[in-house]
Amino acid sequence: MMVGQEPTTYDVVIVGMGPAGASAAAALSRGGLAVLGLDKDTHPRYKVCGGGLSARIEQLLEPGFRSVVEQTIKGVQFVHRGRDPLVIQSHEPIAYMVMRDRFDHYLVQQAVRAGAVIRTGDSVEGITQDAGGVEVVTGQGRFRAQLVIGADGANSLVARQLFPSRSQYRAPALESEVQIGEGPHFPGSATILVDVGAARQGYGWIFPKRDCLSVGVGEFRRKATNLRATFDRFVKEEPGLSGWDVPRPIGHPIPAYSEPERSQRSEGRSPFVNGRAALIGDAGHLVDPLFGEGIYYAVRSGHMVARAILAEQQVCAASLLAYEASLEREILPDFRVTSRIANVVYAFPRLAFKLLRRYQEVVQAYFRVLQGHTTAAQFLLEAKQRLKASVNDLLLEALQMR
Ligand SMILES: Cc1cc2nc3c(=O)[nH]c(=O)nc-3n(C[C@H](O)[C@H](O)[C@H](O)COP(=O)(O)OP(=O)(O)OC[C@H]3O[C@@H](n4cnc5c(N)ncnc54)[C@H](O)[C@@H]3O)c2cc1C
Repeated sequence: MMVGQEPTTYDVVIVGMGPAGASAAAALSRGGLAVLGLDKDTHPRYKVCGGGLSARIEQLLEPGFRSVVEQTIKGVQFVHRGRDPLVIQSHEPIAYMVMRDRFDHYLVQQAVRAGAVIRTGDSVEGITQDAGGVEVVTGQGRFRAQLVIGADGANSLVARQLFPSRSQYRAPALESEVQIGEGPHFPGSATILVDVGAARQGYGWIFPKRDCLSVGVGEFRRKATNLRATFDRFVKEEPGLSGWDVPRPIGHPIPAYSEPERSQRSEGRSPFVNGRAALIGDAGHLVDPLFGEGIYYAVRSGHMVARAILAEQQVCAASLLAYEASLEREILPDFRVTSRIANVVYAFPRLAFKLLRRYQEVVQAYFRVLQGHTTAAQFLLEAKQRLKASVNDLLLEALQMR
């Protein structure tokens, strides 16, 4: 449809068909609403991402998602600057590895099957809202709806246009896919590698896929650094990567959750909901501040916004307030905890690495969070009790290491 024609009307327009948007589109369509999903790219498309899904994703997705899982992870090899490997295993899966082209395509197909209209290869250029609804203008058309959901990722246009005062903080990350063909997976086909000393206030990772390794670094700090140099050093220091051709990494920001600025809070402006618009997934900065895990929260926030909209008899802006309340209840308490853990771990990475070795049961307890058996808040209580006994030793070690 060309710009200038009478806009087509839907109940909800969703901008962005990554995991957040596709999940919301499927759930809203199953609930009987007329949904339009828009994406500037055409699926399947490459996406810079480690593709690690924590095992609790099983609680959100139909079992069919396993058709795109490339590896099932049951162990983590921790290292510090490529040395002193420590492998911690779990009986149950901790994570599933996917390539985002296939995973996202699978989710979009689920949305189409549920009845959503999906337009890809059409970029959204502008959004306005008024008393009667929202209008979304793309390169090829104009669409009206009662509500708009911004699921357009870390560089969200919906957020820039409709939430101009919210936090802009995003962590830089770099990743490359190392093709290994039939070669051996490093550190193993069921084991991921996490290097806690690879980056300043961040970490390096190697995630095994079927015939490649996703190799990356991310830094959760506000000061800019030379991340390319950090990536190169990480690659050089990991013995398992020597001999492989590591292609030039691609950068993309990770919008890790951080508390809204005080000024924003005092003015009562929400970072998630504004009138007829809601932000989900990366567009809403719904990414765990400890590991940068965002796919699980993208799918979950997609389901949460759909649940809130469908709970009302009529599609209306008021339903979005229930979405915001459910974020406050179900997701943000965990982010506040993992943010506190991240502050400690990334300030003292060598100490954190030592603690991992000494308190392996604490890591096992965190696996239970990733497996969906418990929450991060509950984990912190248990971990504190476990660590309390040796607090003096820990402080002494921290002082010696500075
Ligand atoms: C290097 C790196 C590694 C990562 N590794 C992991 C990991 O291992 N596990 C994990 O859980 N998370 C990881 N993440 C985070 C994860 O990639 C995101 O949290 C996740 O993609 C969020 O999903 P989303 O649907 O919100 O956004 P996205 O997946 O970014 O999808 C947004 C969609 O919106 C579309 N779009 C954007 N602008 C427009 C527009 N103007 N008009 C129309 N469409 C538009 C895009 O084409 C895209 O398809 C990683 C991130 C990075 C950068």
